[in-house]
Parts: sequence; C-alpha cells; structure tokens
Amino acid sequence: MSNESLANLLKEERRFAPPAELAAAANVTAEAYEQAKADRLGFWAEQARRLSWETAPTETLDWSNPPFAKWFADGKLNVAYNCVDRHVENGNGDRVAIHFEGEPGDTRSITYAELQREVSKAANALIELGVETGDRVAIYLPMIPEAVIAMLACARIGAPHSLVFGGFSADALATRIHDADARVVITADGGYRRGKPSALKPAVDEALTRPGTENVRSVLVVRRTGQEDVAWTEGRDVWWHEIVERQSEAHTPEAFDAEHPLFILYTSGTTGKPKGILHTTGGYLTQVSYTHHAVFDLKPETDVFWCTADVGWVTGHSYIVYGPLSNGATEVLYEGTPDTPHQGRWWEIVQKYGVTILYTAPTAIRACMKWGDDIPAKFDLSSLRVLGSVGEPINPEAWVWYRKHIGADRTPVVDTWWQTETGGIMISPLPGVTETKPGSAQVALPGIAATVVDDDANEVPDGSGGYLVLTEPWPSMLRTIWGDDQRYLDTYWSRFENRYFAGDGAKKDEDGDIWLLGRVDDVMLVSGHNISTTEVESALVSHPKVAEAAVVGATDPQTTQAICAFVILRGGVDAEDAGLVEELRAHVGKQLGPIAKPKRILPVAELPKTRSGKIMRRLLRDVAENRTLGDVTTLTDSSVMDLIQAKLPAAGSED
Ligand code: ATP
Ligand code: MG
Repeated sequence: MSNESLANLLKEERRFAPPAELAAAANVTAEAYEQAKADRLGFWAEQARRLSWETAPTETLDWSNPPFAKWFADGKLNVAYNCVDRHVENGNGDRVAIHFEGEPGDTRSITYAELQREVSKAANALIELGVETGDRVAIYLPMIPEAVIAMLACARIGAPHSLVFGGFSADALATRIHDADARVVITADGGYRRGKPSALKPAVDEALTRPGTENVRSVLVVRRTGQEDVAWTEGRDVWWHEIVERQSEAHTPEAFDAEHPLFILYTSGTTGKPKGILHTTGGYLTQVSYTHHAVFDLKPETDVFWCTADVGWVTGHSYIVYGPLSNGATEVLYEGTPDTPHQGRWWEIVQKYGVTILYTAPTAIRACMKWGDDIPAKFDLSSLRVLGSVGEPINPEAWVWYRKHIGADRTPVVDTWWQTETGGIMISPLPGVTETKPGSAQVALPGIAATVVDDDANEVPDGSGGYLVLTEPWPSMLRTIWGDDQRYLDTYWSRFENRYFAGDGAKKDEDGDIWLLGRVDDVMLVSGHNISTTEVESALVSHPKVAEAAVVGATDPQTTQAICAFVILRGGVDAEDAGLVEELRAHVGKQLGPIAKPKRILPVAELPKTRSGKIMRRLLRDVAENRTLGDVTTLTDSSVMDLIQAKLPAAGSED
C-alpha cells in the first residue's frame, strides 16, 4: 500500500521552481550542500563564525561520549550580546527589532538600541532578585515584548529559562516549575485573548501552593491588562515596572561556555507526557542563526519577518527570539488570535508592516482555508516573498492553498521539519534552490544527515517508507532530558544503534525526497498493511467538503485495526447529509486504494489539539477504543473530547 499510495500522491504532484529573482540573490545556493558533504564539521565551524565569540572555539564537535554531544566546547560567548548589543555596536541601533501588535490594537516598535537598554535593565533586576548563573527562571507570559526581554535577560546572566505557555493551567505550570526547580517566576497580571483580558497571575499563585514549588522565592509581574484585584504576596511578588524601571541601562554581558545551559523547554505532549528538553548555548545559537538565514533567505536590511508561533513553543524560541535577533532582523510580534476581532487580522498585520516572510503552522492554514479565500483577498499581501510551515505534516491541499491565496502563486513555500529536541530546522527546502513539492519537507539541510530506515535499521530504498532517523549529531541537538539522562537514552537512542530516532514515520520518494507521515505511534496496521494517518487525512482534506481531518486506527477483530476518521466540514456543508460519509469513503478509496477507506467517518465540530495546535490522535484513539483518556494536561479544551465521545456510537456497532 505504501508504494502505491505514494505513487498516487505523486501523480497529482505539482512542482514549483524557485522564483528566478529570489534564486539569483539567495543567501544560500546549492553549493552549500556540496561544501557540507565534503567537510561537515568544517561547515559548522564556518557557520559558528556568524556569531561573535569572546573566545573563539578551536574544537567543533566532541562526540567521545555519545549520545552526549559537546559543540564548540572551548568557545565562550554571550547569547544576548549576539542577539542585541553587537547590532547596536555595528551601527544598527535604530533598526526596529520588534514591531509589537497587541490584540486590542496597541502597538510598540522597539529598536535594537531600546532592546539593549530593556534587556540590560531586566538583567540587573534579576540580579537584584538574587538570580545567579545557573538558576532556573520560569517564564509564564503572554506574547508581549517583555517575554522576549525576559528570555534575553536570563540568557544574558546565564540563568536558563523555562517557558511555560500562557494558556496552560496552574497544574501544568506547577509540574514544570517543580521539574526544573525554578527559583523565580516571571508572569503578568494577564494578557488579551479573543477581545478580553485573561488573568495569568492567579494560576501562578495557585501553582505555588503545590508541593515541589517551594524554591520559588520571587514572582516578577508585568502589568499588561491593568486588571484590578491582583492578589499579592508581600515579600515574594514584585511589579516589573517597579523593579525593572529603576535599574541602570548598562549591564556588561559575561561570556559563558558554549555548553552552558540556555533553556529547558517541555515538548508539546502530542504523544505522551511532556519531556524537559535541555538546550545549550553555542551550538544552538549557531544552528538557529544559520537556518534562519538559509531557510527564510533573510535580508536583515529589508525583510520584515513574522513567525506566528507562541514564544512558549520551540518555534517561538528559535524563530522569534534567537534566530531572527541573532541575525539582526526586523520582526512582528502579535499577541492575539488570528480571528480577533475579525478573520482577516493576520492579513491586516501583513499589510500594515509589509511582512515579507511569514512562518506559521498547518493548523492555522487549514483554519484560514475553512474561513474562505475571500478574506485574505481583501488585503494587500504583495510584500510576501517566502512562506514557511512547521508543526505537523502539511496536507498538499493546504500547501497549495497557502501558496496560491497568501503567496499569490509566486512565493516559495518551505515546509520545515524539526522538533523541540532538534532545536532548529533540520529538513526543509531552500527557497532559492529547491524545486518544491507540496506536502514534502524534501531534503536535509546542509550539514544535517537524515534518512529513513526499516525495522532492522537498514536504509530503505527510494520509493519506500519507514522511520525517520538522524545519523550524525548536529549543533542545536538537545543535550539531554533535564534531570533524566536515562530517559534521553531510552527515548531517542535505543531504538536504533548510533542513530537518533525522531519518533516520526517517513518515506523517500523516487527522487529521494523525504515525506513526513506522522508519528510512528500513529501508523495504522490494517489487514497486514501499514497505512499512515497523514496520507488518509490528506486524502480527506483534498475533498472539497472537508476542511480538516484526524485519522486513527482502532482495534478491530477482523482487520487488526480499522481506520476511524474524524472530519471537520467546510463552512456550508450539511453534516446530516445522508450520502456524505459514503462519498468521503469513496473519495479516499479512489485516492489511496480501497484498503485505505475509513471504516467509520464522523463529522465533528472541533478536534482535540495541543496548545500548540497539533492534533492529539492518541486521545481520539482512546475514544475510538472506549478507553479512559490518557494525559490531557496539554489539551486546549477538554470539552472537545466530551462532544466527540457523545457523538461516537459504541465501538463495533457500525458497519
Ligand atoms: P511530544 O514529543 O511531547 O509528543 P511533540 O512531538 O508534539 O510533543 P514538538 O517538539 O513541538 O512536540 O513537535 C515536533 C513534532 O512535530 C515532530 O516530531 C513531528 O511529528 C511534527 N512536525 C513538526 N514539523 C513538521 C513538519 N514540517 N512535517 C511533519 N511533521 C512535523
Ligand atoms: Mg515529540
């Protein structure tokens, strides 16, 4: 089935050559692949020179104790200096670093010179609060400039930060504070969400009553919403504006070892309980800086970059904070949701700031498809020149829609595969080099080694599928799972010897290009055939009545697993239409072959997603198999599961 269905996908495949103008002036050309192939470590040593080191490294990779890597170990640098001060020293202090757009419409543009002053003051404030090099600081903030300033202030003084997404509950916050043993929490009174102020501080107060959070001695509170009635614990709570504003604007950054911890970040929990991923300084910054330059073709003098992720996810860490700022970019930071106060808000922002590079997630693209083409059509999006996608496999249908309706059928789309664990982009087209294929992340970046293997660790030939693995260490790789080296070994390095197992299924097409097929845990076994959830979902989404689909395999006495699909219909389609389910089944059968026809298809209003917008198939599998739900702490809205459970007839009662 795998090969046939891939052939089917490829039949309809369209290819898009890079625009000639972009290719002619591209930051990175095809030569980079050759150069990295000839001398991989030399290639990364050269990329490390993008940064300003206080002590330049002489050593590139120490892999003497695999899989515990050290990159550039004898070098010393300061991350905040690289992201802020050096741009000011180079005469770019007046360049805007951040155009902030608050959800209520308040705005603030911060130049690199101002950012330097703000970060220095915040660093001085943390020092006054007794934060020392190595202390962990939890950051629980909305998408406001203080989130970026706080991260850079921590980096500046060598205090690893642990961001917790502002939408998480007190419980999720408490577990993460406990696991990282944080000493300080930086939060806000609240943030704006869907037109209303939404409080944050009460969740911190509640979290700090939980066991394991006793070591938190200060809570630094940004005033964002100005809500009255903010509960206050004297001696522990401090207003940001009171302590930060009175600090000196000067702070001399200290250089830290390249392997000094930069941050801990918990994975989004799509496949299970979140893991505290540890990233360090020199290798991480090298790779995020290089990939941001290469994959988005960033020209700092003229581009306006916008990554729509939350700073609380790895995408926000690497492509809102460390990648763009280390490259001296001008970028947009938007606090709110794409449909507040109207469904054209994002496109209004693109038009307003002349955004040239947009980086977002398939879940957002599918939502925009559902809302309709007429919405982006009302805005001038002609400034856009590169579009990016990350977070999930992007269905070919959504990819083509994105290029056509947002990119005017002109801009390259780069589908970037990576993980919290990889720290930076790993597999992606290069916009000035690669002939793109909708739905495929295609090739490992220069200096990155990825392949697809079978159960016995043999590389599969072109045209077949298996498991995605990384075969060489890379600079921004995770160094371990915080406090749990054994789990690091077990999760990533035990499935295949000497290879990093990403947990994702993938295929190589006839050209050797990589197609991501979703989590290995999600692959279905139907009558002896491995069927990927991604392919069936993409087939469903290619039907004009379907906006979004999630597919799982549920235990079945006859076929081992039976394909169960949950679909969100496009606006205006009647869910009660008697022929709909059969029509969709037939459509999938035609696209992928009869074996891939879902046994059951259920139209639903919402799908369970993580807070970062990824579909949580494991919960749907629990429902489809009548089990109690697994870990739901990272689920956006638990009522979604009740609705779905209520709609689902008892397993086996249908054809
Ligand atoms: P957990 O590991 O806790 O289950 P998670 O894997 O969702 O959470 P992240 O690190 O945010 O946490 O997500 C990385 C995963 O997202 C990848 O392993 C892959 O499954 C998916 N992914 C990211 N980008 C892409 C992409 N471009 N194409 C396909 N899949 C992608
Ligand atoms: Mg993962």
